[in-house]
Amino acid sequence: MKQTHSALPARRAISIPPLRAIFDGRVIGPSDGDYDQARKVFNGAIDRRPAFIVRARGALDVSRVVTLAREHGLELAVRSGGHSPAGHGVSDGGIVLDLSDMKALELDVERRTAWAETGLTAGEYTSTTGARGLATGFGDAATVGIGGITLAGGIGYLVRTHGLTIDNVLAAEIVTADGRLLRTDARTHPDLFWAIRGGGGNFGVVTRFQFRLHAVDAILGGMLVLPASPEIITALVAEADAAPEELSTIASVVLAPPLPGLPAAMRGRPVVMARMVHAGDIAAGERAIAPFRALAQPLVDTVKPMRYAGMFPRDDGGHPNVLMHAMFADDIDRGSAAAIIEHLQLSTAKMAAVEIRVLGGAMARVSSDATAFAHRGARMMMNVAAMYERTEEAATHERWVDDLAAALHGRHSGVYAGFLGAEGEARVRDAYPGATWDRLAAIKQRYDPDNLFRLNQNVPPSAKGSPCVPALGDHRAGLEVASIEAGGGSIEVAFRS
Ligand SMILES: Cc1cc2nc3c(=O)[nH]c(=O)nc-3n(C[C@H](O)[C@H](O)[C@H](O)COP(=O)(O)OP(=O)(O)OC[C@H]3O[C@@H](n4cnc5c(N)ncnc54)[C@H](O)[C@@H]3O)c2cc1C
Repeated sequence: MKQTHSALPARRAISIPPLRAIFDGRVIGPSDGDYDQARKVFNGAIDRRPAFIVRARGALDVSRVVTLAREHGLELAVRSGGHSPAGHGVSDGGIVLDLSDMKALELDVERRTAWAETGLTAGEYTSTTGARGLATGFGDAATVGIGGITLAGGIGYLVRTHGLTIDNVLAAEIVTADGRLLRTDARTHPDLFWAIRGGGGNFGVVTRFQFRLHAVDAILGGMLVLPASPEIITALVAEADAAPEELSTIASVVLAPPLPGLPAAMRGRPVVMARMVHAGDIAAGERAIAPFRALAQPLVDTVKPMRYAGMFPRDDGGHPNVLMHAMFADDIDRGSAAAIIEHLQLSTAKMAAVEIRVLGGAMARVSSDATAFAHRGARMMMNVAAMYERTEEAATHERWVDDLAAALHGRHSGVYAGFLGAEGEARVRDAYPGATWDRLAAIKQRYDPDNLFRLNQNVPPSAKGSPCVPALGDHRAGLEVASIEAGGGSIEVAFRS
């Protein structure tokens, strides 16, 4: 996986104290004691020093940051949970807009909807809705931000049952490049609504999403660990594909780490760790999982009736250095499965894995052009990943990831934007193939013609679209920041009424 980086913006001295007068939220600069902690993102290989970080308190702060960045030509990083593999949640020399203090969650239990601010993590959202026996599907990790995962698509434990996260988005509020807060849904700015469902952070800063909730309470869930062989990997994929839609499976082929209950003799041997959620009747779930248990004597079997929120342990393990290469795939044949096992045994990474997610079900019933996520027909997604400790090792693990990815590519094409590193424009185009790219570029031209939101899996504006002129009344009164002057140690903020 080649990591390519855009030119760094010119650094300039920015006086932090006057900035503090502008924002309701905290401003953290290089001289603050928690600056190093605040600039960290999930991928520990990313080490960038922003000019300052704003922990926004609400949409007005977001609008102020966007206006400040636009007017002063500062690079803007927008961060919800900080899990972007490319490290797009932090800028070198620019502003970080950190949404993690924006965690309001309004549930309408009767209508089964939720308005959620995008500073919430998937775990926080799920534990609150889970207390009411309700859920919206995100991914498989508690600490991923609902902002980034939803904008990318959202492929998780409920993907076959209730579709992608974006299939459960009813509306959003978004601050666009001009600093206005717009509401968008199927009828209001439908082009924008189409684009933000899969098109990432290209179009503005989403402050809140309205989600559909599903009755997902007691599930059959947990992890099944089986010895890995080419036959077991291919059979497991076939079973996951044939399983009822209530069952979604995320299987990682790894060399066995120490796991509670795993026989010591199996440590370091190839295993498949299959995390499974059956979101439906428990007895039907037992029937659905039986064929997996029959593939081989399970080495560990924690699949049992549980609450859905229990699938999201609070912490997923800090800030490892991560390299990955993801791809959608139609099939995994015996040769590919054998290649996975062979390559895993060659890796010197602390943890190397190939994750296989069998898709289909509700995700595949939505048409490929209904949202900016175009890969509805993909039967599965694979992700080759290496986690390592020392930065100096990066090149070795990059080679390993590239080699295995190349061995697997063959008939596979396309990539999930949420699993992309900084891999260059061709790979971003793989995420948004053909007409999806053209449509995104035209919408980008309307809402962000100067590409202010470019620290992301970037779709540059096409010259073909027309600039967006939102109708009066699209924004909330008082939320429009007309200009911000920063210089000579003083800041002036002017608001349009
Ligand atoms: C450990 C781990 C597990 C993962 N598991 C899954 C999974 O199971 N399923 C899945 O689908 N994905 C998964 N992902 C991928 C993840 O969904 C994406 O990387 C996602 O972008 C992370 O969102 P974030 O808010 O945490 O990241 P951030 O780094 O905060 O955001 C990523 C990018 O999204 C944009 N963005 C974020 N919030 C906003 C906002 N409010 N408005 C505008 N733009 C915004 C910005 O461009 C930002 O750079 C996983 C990633 C990791 C590291």
